[in-house]
Amino acid sequence: MSEGKLQRAIETLKDAGVRITPQRHAVLDYLLHSMTHPTADEIYKALEGKFPNMSVATVYNNLRVLKEVGLVRELTYGDASSRFDCETTEHYHVICNECGKIVDFHYPSLDEVEKLAEQVTGFDVSHHRMEIYGKCEDCQELATRKH
Ligand SMILES: [Zn+2]
Ligand SMILES: [Zn+2]
Repeated sequence: MSEGKLQRAIETLKDAGVRITPQRHAVLDYLLHSMTHPTADEIYKALEGKFPNMSVATVYNNLRVLKEVGLVRELTYGDASSRFDCETTEHYHVICNECGKIVDFHYPSLDEVEKLAEQVTGFDVSHHRMEIYGKCEDCQELATRKH
């Protein structure tokens, strides 16, 4: 994780006229350094020591602002709380069935699927989301240790 990315993200905020508060800076910094696609709650827990006055609502509010300027993507999973991803280039996710961890991986974007979907259904397709499920290395290791 390069500091250049944080610098660029801050430039993007400035260009959009968004005020960069210490908390907003911390949320952004945490997301950029986190590879786990944290929930708002996890971000809150990680930062509450540093910002005793911060609430989960503040974290949500900051995430919403970051989402509006396109620095963060929200991944929703039905009832479970959303996870946040600051990798905004096209990529796919592999998700652990046991612990819920989400890991990024890159694969050529499946544009043909979108085109075919448009042709077949007449939809104006905006994007697609593909997820691979399985058991992560940590959970595999835990399982072998138990036996
Ligand atoms: Zn796992
Ligand atoms: Zn991701």
